[in-house]
Amino acid sequence: DTIGGNLQRAVDAFPEREALVDCPSGRRWTYAEFGAAVEEVALGLLAKGVEKGDRVGIWAVNCPEWVLVQYATARIGAVMVNINPAYRVHELEFVLKQSGISLLVSFTEYRTSDYRGMAEQVRGACPDLREIVHIGDPTWDRLVAAGAAVPAGRLAEREARLSCDDPVNIQYTSGTTGFPKGATLSHHNILNNGYFVGETIGYTEQDRICLPVPFYHCFGMVMGNLGATTHGACVIIPAPSFDPAATLRAVARERATSLYGVPTMFIAELELRDFAEYDLSSLRTGIMAGSPCPVEVMKRVVTEMNMAEVSICYGMTETSPVSTQTRRDDDLERRTGTVGRVLPHIEVKVVDPADGTTLPRGEAGELCTRGYSVMLGYWDEPERTAEAVDPARWMHTGDLAVMREDGCVQIVGRIKDMIIRGGENIYPREIEEFLHTHPAIRDVQVVGVPDEKYGEEILACVILREPGGTLGVEDIAAFCEGRLARYKVPRHVEVVDSFPMTVSGKVRKVELRERATERLA
Ligand code: ATP
Ligand code: MG
Repeated sequence: DTIGGNLQRAVDAFPEREALVDCPSGRRWTYAEFGAAVEEVALGLLAKGVEKGDRVGIWAVNCPEWVLVQYATARIGAVMVNINPAYRVHELEFVLKQSGISLLVSFTEYRTSDYRGMAEQVRGACPDLREIVHIGDPTWDRLVAAGAAVPAGRLAEREARLSCDDPVNIQYTSGTTGFPKGATLSHHNILNNGYFVGETIGYTEQDRICLPVPFYHCFGMVMGNLGATTHGACVIIPAPSFDPAATLRAVARERATSLYGVPTMFIAELELRDFAEYDLSSLRTGIMAGSPCPVEVMKRVVTEMNMAEVSICYGMTETSPVSTQTRRDDDLERRTGTVGRVLPHIEVKVVDPADGTTLPRGEAGELCTRGYSVMLGYWDEPERTAEAVDPARWMHTGDLAVMREDGCVQIVGRIKDMIIRGGENIYPREIEEFLHTHPAIRDVQVVGVPDEKYGEEILACVILREPGGTLGVEDIAAFCEGRLARYKVPRHVEVVDSFPMTVSGKVRKVELRERATERLA
């Protein structure tokens, strides 16, 4: 099926049910209204001359128009390119050129970001870019109005020419480990993934999903939007960008049944001073993904946020994204110790990174995945595609994992983040988990820094519960004494106010490591 065809099915089945709610503006759409609004934008894009396969960029914080453009571009066979709203002119120009965007839908302004001004600034440097439409100004209204002049039947003609294997989307990776790569994904890739993620959670048309995660990232647009529309569920936008208080307010007011987030977002919500004031009784489930979830945080999400069925997903942009997921009835141990079992129609294996041989269960190696979910390739980068996807179509994830006897997968860390201290392999995750049990520590990241004697030494960057407090290397050593092997005890401790983050909410360890290395040098 195509994304457009699938949406039509939801419109036919649940016309009166709510599809989309935007809390900041108070606007809401039923499935019938949402289907009609998508069609208006699709016709508008046809009127602007967008052809099958043309790239249409979307550069905006979360807003309803983002979602309309997502489905409208899919209906006309265009390839939507998600552009990170944190980008500035340099990165914007790179993406516009790299993917050959002909029409850019951009936000006008948000907080300190002047999207309109930045888009105008790069226009001249991008020869493929024919038109810029700004959400919330007359150019958007004109786009929608232009659709009225398109002859009846043009849209149906276009849809008849589409295949589910056509590219529909270019998603750039988070850029956690370097410069983002543009994963090209088909209808088949992401529609199926959204569907199976929703199936595993058990979504129905009764569900209302609160999405504080960015749409530009697969977490929002696939696991969120497509997970919802493939089941007739409703998407709730709490705020244009992550705001913990607005998120919990939206859950309470809109009676959300499901809430998404990366671990750091859940931590911010739990730490709100007035956390106890929000009525979270409507919540049942949700997804935590993107980076490892500390056990302590998970326990609080389950008990204090009422998310007894919260699901852990593991995946990457290149695989649509989800490969493994915990199930509704998995116990807390599986939900904190593992990333669940492989989803239907996807294969996984753990290989020796050195020679590619498959390792037995219980041994750590590089995780590889294969199936409908593997991307078509990196846009216009065949060499990088060949490095990531081998001739047998296995995606090499760059993540270290263990396959347990019970079929659950454990993510040990990224190959790039592993610390090698005096020849000993150390996984930062294990130390982070342990330090999370320290009463003064609110959040912690462990990285390797260069060391003359051991090659690398362990650095713990901590955010304290009490601002202005102190925590020294001796305190950490005392806390670890007798409970953590000596070679894993951090030799450097730094108290920080925040970690460098990607917009999708992941800590950029590369940057932490670089900053610390400079300071220690
Ligand atoms: P880049 O590839 O640009 O460096 P990125 O890998 O962070 O950035 P994404 O595709 O957004 O970009 O993230 C995928 C990665 O996120 C995975 O390869 C894995 O390292 C991490 N990840 C995702 N889910 C989980 C999880 N549940 N537990 C641990 N790590 C996870
Ligand atoms: Mg990656």
